[in-house]
Amino acid sequence: MGCYCQECGAEIKGRIDKKFCCDMCRNNYHNKLYRQEKRQISRINKRLAANRRILKYFYTSGIRKVPRYLLEDNKFDFDCYTSSSTGPLGRTTYRCYEYKYSSDLHKIVKIEKD
Ligand SMILES: [Zn+2]
Repeated sequence: MGCYCQECGAEIKGRIDKKFCCDMCRNNYHNKLYRQEKRQISRINKRLAANRRILKYFYTSGIRKVPRYLLEDNKFDFDCYTSSSTGPLGRTTYRCYEYKYSSDLHKIVKIEKD
């Protein structure tokens, strides 16, 4: 059984633990991974920034209790936050940078800021 380059698929001769046929293939492979990672990070950063903008808009407008659907209408992404913590009564507070928010039973989202 032969060994094949992870980048170009060429058969690798020599050492069995080699993953690439040459330096160029190794570099191309790692550059691609790096670009992919940067794209993923940037996608998530954009979503977080958009969420923060929405929270900031309501908070600075003095609207600190917002029905959940209003946030959804503004394309707030509830799956995207910087951290979360659950209090003793089971309510989870989510954080988006310096803003915090939590939902009550009536789907009213309370927005706070550090
Ligand atoms: Zn190769």
